[in-house]
Amino acid sequence: MEWDAETDILVVGGGGGLVAALAARESGAHVALVEKHDRLGGNTALSSGSVPGAGSRFQRAAGVEDSPDRMVFDVMRQTNGTAPQHLVRALAQESGPLVEWMVDSLDVPLAFVPDLKKVGHSVPRTHGSGGRQGATVVAALEQKAQDNGILVSPGNPVRRLLQDTSGRIAGAVIENAGAEHRIGARKVILACNGFGANKEMLRKYIPEIAEAPYFGHRGNMGEGIAWGLELGARLRDMGAYQGHASVSHPQGALMTWSAIERGGFLVNLDGQRFVDESLGYSGCTTAVRSQREHIAFVIFDQRIHHYLEPKAQDYRDIVAHGGARQGADMEALGAARGLDGRSLADTLACYNSAAGGAATDGDTDLFGRKDFGGAPLCPPFILVKVTAGLFHTQGGLDVDANAQPLRNDGSAIENLYAVGGAAVGVSGADGNKGYCSANGLLAALGLGRIAGRHAGRML
Ligand SMILES: Cc1cc2nc3c(=O)[nH]c(=O)nc-3n(C[C@H](O)[C@H](O)[C@H](O)COP(=O)(O)OP(=O)(O)OC[C@H]3O[C@@H](n4cnc5c(N)ncnc54)[C@H](O)[C@@H]3O)c2cc1C
Repeated sequence: MEWDAETDILVVGGGGGLVAALAARESGAHVALVEKHDRLGGNTALSSGSVPGAGSRFQRAAGVEDSPDRMVFDVMRQTNGTAPQHLVRALAQESGPLVEWMVDSLDVPLAFVPDLKKVGHSVPRTHGSGGRQGATVVAALEQKAQDNGILVSPGNPVRRLLQDTSGRIAGAVIENAGAEHRIGARKVILACNGFGANKEMLRKYIPEIAEAPYFGHRGNMGEGIAWGLELGARLRDMGAYQGHASVSHPQGALMTWSAIERGGFLVNLDGQRFVDESLGYSGCTTAVRSQREHIAFVIFDQRIHHYLEPKAQDYRDIVAHGGARQGADMEALGAARGLDGRSLADTLACYNSAAGGAATDGDTDLFGRKDFGGAPLCPPFILVKVTAGLFHTQGGLDVDANAQPLRNDGSAIENLYAVGGAAVGVSGADGNKGYCSANGLLAALGLGRIAGRHAGRML
């Protein structure tokens, strides 16, 4: 075939794909990464930058006992046994070494977050970056990619994949300044995420969230999944997604779920609770969507505020933009924000009583919540108006434990890999319910590392 340029390994997508490229480069291969948009980052840069690392040395240093087996158990429990077990195991095993490699070899500033268990995890397991979180991670990866001689080309969308005469993947067509160029590649890694920005695909595969606001990256149009389908790949868990039940409204900044985990709760405009908040931020998405005007309020107290403020940039942004209202009188505070204040004060009293009794009699809550963090809450209280939406789709190309897409007959498509949102995730088959905190980035970075390593080895 005639090529305009050639490389050993072509990575499509400059979010989590940076990790795939860096892992591939360790084999000595020539690696090129193309990104549709003018800037790298994708959802990875928009994310909170939290990555689970089961059994990492940072966990051990903090005295937390953990292991890949324990993480496999947690994820399978959260997904009612429906997540692809071979991937859950591969990613759980990869997670600790991944975090250590990112810190030691890629200079990504990740640190263990010891004081939170996070949704779906039975022990504190997430490692996060300070500052602008996901953007901090991407900036460090981009720098490393440059240092390591990876050819990084933003503003170059891939339009289609190319096969050789025997049907094997042989490269891709990219578009630049209105012209098409044929790039030859011995391996292609699809790191171009899922279909969160593609309304048509959402209506087809996840109608329950299709009309909700999407808070992820606009570039994620599901092309990787479409190319895979053309090649005869099979899909898995297409109805799975990561939603979020607390995005501040109208600011659109992430209202960290830590406020709930440390003792806060959700109410609607009628000042009433409506869900067991321990379902987690993704699990509560549809419940918030079902409320009047799709609006809810996160209620917590000043102790929680003092905990969050130094830790969460997004929360500081909400405070700076007037999105966190404070007051000692719950009824007046609620009424001032358009809620039924009297009902809200009653709800607080019930909630505090359930939280107060939970330690002695575990079954105190009308909605079934058992873990109330630091509640009962005490004045002054904080109230943040939120809405719910879609962050990331979790279904995609079914892949084996090397991240290679599978055909219907179970055979792997040669020379092709799919990672992150382009591949099936580890959130199982039950819509928004199976998502464990930080498993989106794990699928992007962990599977990216697995794919890059394997592609480099198989050249
Ligand atoms: C607000 C928010 C917070 C989140 N917080 C967390 C968190 O703390 N922890 C966690 O685990 N997960 C989190 N997630 C989910 C996480 O961000 C995603 O699961 C993860 O970033 C997906 O990585 P990816 O590499 O698959 O895709 P992305 O990072 O989105 O990268 C895909 C890239 O591919 C590009 N692309 C698409 N099509 C093409 C094409 N045809 N040609 C070339 N390039 C293309 C896109 O423009 C994009 O830049 C969060 C998501 C959001 C929206």
